[in-house]
Amino acid sequence: MFRYPVFVFLVFLVTEGGAAAEKTILSFKAGVAVATITPSEKMWMAGYAARDHPAEGKDQDLFVKALALEDQDGNRLVLLTSDLLALPRELSEAVYKECERRTGIARKQLMLTCSHTHCGPVMRGALPDMYPLTPAQVRQVEAYTDRLKDQMVETVVKALADLKPAALAIGKGTATFAVNRRMSTARGIVIGTNRPRPVDHDVPVLKVMGADGKLLAVVFGYACHNTTLSYYRWSGDYAGSAQQYLEAKHPGVAALFWIGCGGDANPSPRGSVALCRKHGLELAEAVETVLNGKMQTLSGGFASSYGLIDLPFDHLPTKEKLQNDLRSKNASEARRAVRLLKALERDGKLNDCYRYYPVQVWRIGRDLLWIALGGEVLVDYDLRLKRELAGKQAIWITGYANDVMAYIPSVPVLREGGYEVDTSMIYYGLPSRWSPAIEDRIIGKVHKEAGGNAP
Ligand SMILES: [Zn+2]
Repeated sequence: MFRYPVFVFLVFLVTEGGAAAEKTILSFKAGVAVATITPSEKMWMAGYAARDHPAEGKDQDLFVKALALEDQDGNRLVLLTSDLLALPRELSEAVYKECERRTGIARKQLMLTCSHTHCGPVMRGALPDMYPLTPAQVRQVEAYTDRLKDQMVETVVKALADLKPAALAIGKGTATFAVNRRMSTARGIVIGTNRPRPVDHDVPVLKVMGADGKLLAVVFGYACHNTTLSYYRWSGDYAGSAQQYLEAKHPGVAALFWIGCGGDANPSPRGSVALCRKHGLELAEAVETVLNGKMQTLSGGFASSYGLIDLPFDHLPTKEKLQNDLRSKNASEARRAVRLLKALERDGKLNDCYRYYPVQVWRIGRDLLWIALGGEVLVDYDLRLKRELAGKQAIWITGYANDVMAYIPSVPVLREGGYEVDTSMIYYGLPSRWSPAIEDRIIGKVHKEAGGNAP
């Protein structure tokens, strides 16, 4: 069912557009590699503070997948996707440095993303104060993270070694299971469902075809927490299911998922494996509809940029406040106080900002502007950037990219408070909520890196 329309699509472009169109179709190269990263041991699982024992088994394998692309001038881009909760900066930088040493790739050319599954393993440097780990469990996490780094590097190296002529096309579908989770109550904002509040239901799709018109890979995104499940088994959650469905439908093809600005969106309803499969199927069908419809062929060259900015905290806690927190009923808050008091003792002060917030921008010809932001970005950023950058090009906004240091709330959300503003900062080990200055800083940096697209 699928090959026939692709064949027609290519023939149409070659015969209608002549030699120039044929050259456009074959003007890219693409390479793909995949590795399984499911822990073999019963490790602690990432994402929920309330878990009280390690994983009990697996429902789905977890993967890292790399897609390497090259334009006619030899400019390269590499997307790494992963069925993981988060990407600590230390891990991303270690992966990048080794990839740079082995392949010569620049930082701006490598986009490291995750699916934010809450049924993956704890990694070193991610949510440092969330989990009650024993020293033996910490050693397991260390060993796993070291192995994971090597697997990520090998996957990128293999994808770059696999480059062969390819065509690229993009399109956009829709999936509707994401709902805004910031619910107003008499007790303030709590995590629930708030359907009138905004979400982004877009499903951006990149189709990668070989020169013979055969599908090589499909990349897709969705802006929603990957939290249908909260049990004790390894799983890629709805994003894992969607990738499974697509790979089963297209044997030999890699399906790569990245999460968008879904910091304040949850799948609804949620809580069972059946619902995880249902949402995964809805997402896969949205992708399939795009693949089978009219897509926009990409042409032109690649441009990429990558920069870091400081994000200021709203205030710093006093020593007295931290000493009080040592007696907090919230064990994570007490662990954070221990760590921050040590830093205060060592350095004489706490950092008043996070110094490494990453903003990455890729441009593919004149047709696609692809922005990748660090942290659990809330939907307001996605909607604002799509509004301010609107033009002829498609705009994709990947969240949780390159570094996941905290939630990234907008100014209105910071005013409201709630989990994404305050409580989550405890688990991320940061000293206070963000300053309202962060929104304009991040948006301003995107405009600067996107160059020429500022309103
Ligand atoms: Zn989250």
